[in-house]
Amino acid sequence: MIEPTSDEREVEAKLRPTSLTEFVGQEKVVNQLNLILDAAKLHNRAPDHILLAGPPGLGKTTLAMIVAHDSGKPLRLTSGPAIQSSGDLASMLSALQSGDVLFIDEIHRMSRSAEEMLYLAMEDFRVDVMVGKGPGAASISLEIAPFTLVGATTRSGMLPTPLRDRFGFTAFLEYYEPADLVSVVTRASQKLGIEIESDAANALATRSRGTPRIANRLLRRVRDFAAVNRQPVITMDSVLSAMELFEVDALGLDRVDRQILTLLATQFSAKPVGLSTLAVAIGEEPDTIEAVIEPYLIRIGFIQRTPRGREITQHGIAHLTQAKR
Ligand code: ADP
Repeated sequence: MIEPTSDEREVEAKLRPTSLTEFVGQEKVVNQLNLILDAAKLHNRAPDHILLAGPPGLGKTTLAMIVAHDSGKPLRLTSGPAIQSSGDLASMLSALQSGDVLFIDEIHRMSRSAEEMLYLAMEDFRVDVMVGKGPGAASISLEIAPFTLVGATTRSGMLPTPLRDRFGFTAFLEYYEPADLVSVVTRASQKLGIEIESDAANALATRSRGTPRIANRLLRRVRDFAAVNRQPVITMDSVLSAMELFEVDALGLDRVDRQILTLLATQFSAKPVGLSTLAVAIGEEPDTIEAVIEPYLIRIGFIQRTPRGREITQHGIAHLTQAKR
């Protein structure tokens, strides 16, 4: 639902801030990272390993790129699901040059054996690999170049403590305030060479679910709408018409969000529902619901998690009733 498409990745690349000064919002995290990067430069060493935690689209990949950019080193990109064995990880680690920044997205989805190898690599810049098979097998220890690991996770609670402990610093990214999203939208429209009126930028910001990726995505839809309708400037009217067309409501909820709320309110009679039951009912993966869809609905108080499952709140019911009118 808010995972980027390939076309979107291209635009994202264009819109990505390349320095902490360009990075909108997240003041606390920006200050913390600034300190870590400055200290590394002062002591002429690679920055500490950094864990970035938070929902998708809030800027984790962007920050990893900024860390590499600031260190003047290339960013090596991979993801937890791509590292299925310790061998995959060993070849990646042994190809690193001194000071490289290795970004592992969705680090909580790495295989167990790779995870264990990573502990040693992070701590001692060493990997133990097995050579040979059967009784003749032996473990040899290989040195690897000192590097900075930047891990990103939407589920920091799923990371085993030994892994979490090996990061020098964990940044928790929060959903963005509307004012910051207005800056994201304004900055992105400048980069894309489109003019947007300020009330239109506000309207987009309030529909962006606290997420820059969604702000950029909605901006692109409105830009398309304005272009097709030969409107040189994005106005409030173009935002409202485009949002109606794409079924995004005044709070930024889309069809899937409303489907979940409606199911919880009607089919499940506003009683708690287990995650897997809900997932089957709407045809999404439980993981997608948990990491991508529900955090925002919980944050705005439309859903709550109880020991017996997910439950719609009175606020959520009121929103549905309003939307029907
Ligand atoms: P994540 O890795 O957390 O899923 P990304 O770093 O890929 O998120 O960010 C998604 C898009 O949102 C980026 O392409 C970037 O354009 C935009 N973005 C994210 N954070 C910011 C920010 N703080 N300021 C401006 N744009 C941002």
